[in-house]
Amino acid sequence: MIKMTNNKYKINFLFNSLTNKYLFATIKGMRYTKRQFEAEYPDDDACLESVFQNRFGDLKFCPKCAAETNFYRIKKRQAYACQWCAYQLHPLADTIFRKTTTPLKDWFYAIYLFSVSKNGVSAKELERHLGVTYKTAWRMCKQIRLLMAQEESNLSGIVEMDETYMGSSDPTKLKSRNTRKTPVIGAVERGGEVRAETAKDAKAESIIPLVWKYVDVNATLHTDEWRAYRQLARMGYEHKTVRHADKQWKKGNVHTNSIEGFWGQMKRSISGTYHSVSPKYLQHYVDEFVFRYNFRGVAVCPVLLELAAKPV
Ligand SMILES: [Zn+2]
Repeated sequence: MIKMTNNKYKINFLFNSLTNKYLFATIKGMRYTKRQFEAEYPDDDACLESVFQNRFGDLKFCPKCAAETNFYRIKKRQAYACQWCAYQLHPLADTIFRKTTTPLKDWFYAIYLFSVSKNGVSAKELERHLGVTYKTAWRMCKQIRLLMAQEESNLSGIVEMDETYMGSSDPTKLKSRNTRKTPVIGAVERGGEVRAETAKDAKAESIIPLVWKYVDVNATLHTDEWRAYRQLARMGYEHKTVRHADKQWKKGNVHTNSIEGFWGQMKRSISGTYHSVSPKYLQHYVDEFVFRYNFRGVAVCPVLLELAAKPV
């Protein structure tokens, strides 16, 4: 998982971890095209080599014999060996690719599709693209979403907080436990990153721990008048509200338009691409759209491929 405290850190992360050839395209927010992807990853071997380089590329000394060494690919196996003692490295172990029977090239292509789509990729779509079973496609999507879960860190400056409800609005389905609406609580740093989590309700007991977890105590919080936010000032935060009940959406620079924009984009994408999502998996989808928001304007394919080479 990547650690990101703010945009500066994110850029540092990109500088530190991505190979130079991607750096320019990534920082500039240039597109990573299908042609580039095909040239870079023509077959399973190229994909495995990429995972190996991302994971063990810096390894100069053998962990077993301690000699300065080169690792060579063992033919017909997804493993590399030390040139002196034959100690083996398995680049796919503990990654999202572990124990898969799907060709690595298909996995890489699925990651590419996730990176270029704005609204997500459904299992049905992946099934069509790759000619795999629905079950395989569904599992691949779930694994790729794991890459998009970021480590939490503090938001600062002006932070907008709000909550929304996800799930079926069809009144005939509301009786079923699986289609009941699930609250999602979110915070966004104005001009920065977003954090969002599903919760059991939108009461203060659910919201306050997330404020501590995500928001720097020196931040100024902007919310609506929902009573769960009333104790923010007592917690030491500067707290400003807009009164949505009085149709007040903006008071000077006080508003919650950024977080509401994020909710809107996430809801349109989930209902358009995924139709409905069960509460059990909702957090994975929320993570996906948080990642998309936080990496907006960045060519994310190299970022995701880099993350895919790390143990999960
Ligand atoms: Zn060795």
